[in-house]
Amino acid sequence: MNHPSVPQRDTAEHLPCHHCGEAYEPADQARHTEPVHCGPCITCVGKPACFSCRLMYCVCDVHRYRG
Ligand SMILES: [Zn+2]
Ligand SMILES: [Zn+2]
Ligand SMILES: [Zn+2]
Repeated sequence: MNHPSVPQRDTAEHLPCHHCGEAYEPADQARHTEPVHCGPCITCVGKPACFSCRLMYCVCDVHRYRG
């Protein structure tokens, strides 16, 4: 009986971000987890820097969606 080879999951590293969906390196963790108090836009206030606000009128430099 052959067991199918299951790829090892190292869950401690490269967790996909809740906000942008990217698997990030520990060095990038702050960008994905630290809340940014950005300003008047209530949609994205308190979101980390990696979050892209889809609101058309978002004025945040950090969150404004650059598509
Ligand atoms: Zn992220
Ligand atoms: Zn914002
Ligand atoms: Zn916004």
